[in-house]
Amino acid sequence: MVPPADGRGVLVYCEVEGGRLAPLALEVLGVGRRLASALGQELGAVLIGEGVAPLASEVIVHGADKVYVGEAGLLCEYVLELYLPVVEEAIEQAQPAILLFGHTLVGRELAPWTAFRRGVVASMDCVALEIDPHTKRLLMTRPVYGGNAQAVQVSMGDPQVATVRAKTMAPAVKDHGRYGQVVELKAGGRLPAPRVKVLERKAEPGTRVKLEEARVVVAGGRGIGSASGFKQLEELAGLLGGAVGATRPPCDAKWAKESQQIGITGRIVGPELYIAVALSGASQHLAGCSAAKVIVAINKDPEANIFHVVDYGIADDWKAVVPALLSCLRARTDKETEGIWR
Ligand SMILES: Cc1cc2nc3c(=O)[nH]c(=O)nc-3n(C[C@H](O)[C@H](O)[C@H](O)COP(=O)(O)OP(=O)(O)OC[C@H]3O[C@@H](n4cnc5c(N)ncnc54)[C@H](O)[C@@H]3O)c2cc1C
Repeated sequence: MVPPADGRGVLVYCEVEGGRLAPLALEVLGVGRRLASALGQELGAVLIGEGVAPLASEVIVHGADKVYVGEAGLLCEYVLELYLPVVEEAIEQAQPAILLFGHTLVGRELAPWTAFRRGVVASMDCVALEIDPHTKRLLMTRPVYGGNAQAVQVSMGDPQVATVRAKTMAPAVKDHGRYGQVVELKAGGRLPAPRVKVLERKAEPGTRVKLEEARVVVAGGRGIGSASGFKQLEELAGLLGGAVGATRPPCDAKWAKESQQIGITGRIVGPELYIAVALSGASQHLAGCSAAKVIVAINKDPEANIFHVVDYGIADDWKAVVPALLSCLRARTDKETEGIWR
């Protein structure tokens, strides 16, 4: 017997990046608003960091009824042991039925820790979230078996904790007429002495567009054969305003960076266009790109598994296809190029 939801609405963790709300935070706010409205309850949001208080009004404009703000100098960088007690303070105040995080490096750590501390489970990497109209419990859909199937899970405890996969849910719609309440958390007073100190942050060189946020991803596989082959994919992605990803073998061979690996043990992406070049379509890879809106594959083996999941396939040698695409794209203006895949 599934217990009815008895909390007070939905609470979402809003990640801040470089002093701004992270793109996924807007998506989490969007789904949070929808679920709170379906329950007829309140949407709360948690903001943590140094100097994040001014973002509260933006969070309210994007659908929150109440914003719990944890401000302290010590919180200038994400450190689990510092952020966890602040999230817990917000939970104690809000007593939510549902608690959502983005499925980012931060959310992937904070969500299971928070759930563990409250004696519940976290459903990770959800691609759909709905309220069951009968039980009012949260139906959490997530890919399983390396993306070959989807499971719908219901949590037996409260809060029902889930992380949200990027690009799977509509971002919150701005409404400047909205008003809400800001609650200051006593963050500073509760923080333990940190055992970890962030000394420096270095952006990965050559990263124009973040893989998870890219609208176009060009992913290369073992068939690319060399680091110089990946340079051609870089140019292709650059011309399309996208990012380059890879399967595991090119990362192992150092043709691509480890951070470019897409799949069950790598990044999860959900671009509008995914160009899979010289990769076979192993389930462990597809688990990371199945949310792509349109998939195009270039593979010289017409029997390759990737052709079972594509929208468009080119059964040919990438060394013929990619240079042809490049010369076609180089001749176009940025505006025309955007029009190609939109
Ligand atoms: C526990 C576990 C976790 C894993 N996690 C991941 C993960 O997160 N991400 C991931 O990607 N993999 C992961 N793997 C590895 C995965 O199982 C596959 O081995 C891997 O994805 C295969 O990569 P690939 O498609 O590039 O290589 P292959 O399977 O070798 O395919 C290469 C393809 O390139 C084509 N090709 C070759 N030359 C050309 C050419 N000139 N032009 C066009 N096509 C060409 C071939 O026809 C072939 O289809 C994991 C494996 C395990 C066991």
